[in-house]
Amino acid sequence: MYDDNNIFAKILRNEIPCDKIYEDDFSLFFNDINPQAKIHVLGIPKYPCIDFYEFTSKADNKIIISFFKSVNTVIEKLNINNKGFRLISNSGEHGGQEVPHYHVHILAGEKIGSLR
Ligand code: 5GP
Repeated sequence: MYDDNNIFAKILRNEIPCDKIYEDDFSLFFNDINPQAKIHVLGIPKYPCIDFYEFTSKADNKIIISFFKSVNTVIEKLNINNKGFRLISNSGEHGGQEVPHYHVHILAGEKIGSLR
């Protein structure tokens, strides 16, 4: 069950600051506090859900489409499409998820190492 005391819910409620990259009605993008690459941006929907599975199962299509379109907007804003990037979403214990509010990681700005 979704716990709205998680850190990203607090960021969405402006209880904790973030280094904002982009925001619209459905999503917020900000720099990761512990970057794993030269560019490491997190993107979260303004929708209470734990992970990709819950987001795509429960949210309205309009919200889902808007979120992924905003990922595209951020890719353009960061100008990373030419050299490339890695888009990651961790889920649950086996996926190594730490913060239980659905988010994507956008890693770029240098060659990202292999996953293992
Ligand atoms: P996960 O492992 O859940 O996919 O990734 C969570 C990410 O959130 C980590 O990369 C971590 O560095 C980042 N993070 C955790 N707490 C904060 C915070 O308070 N602010 C920001 N900007 N990032 C955070």
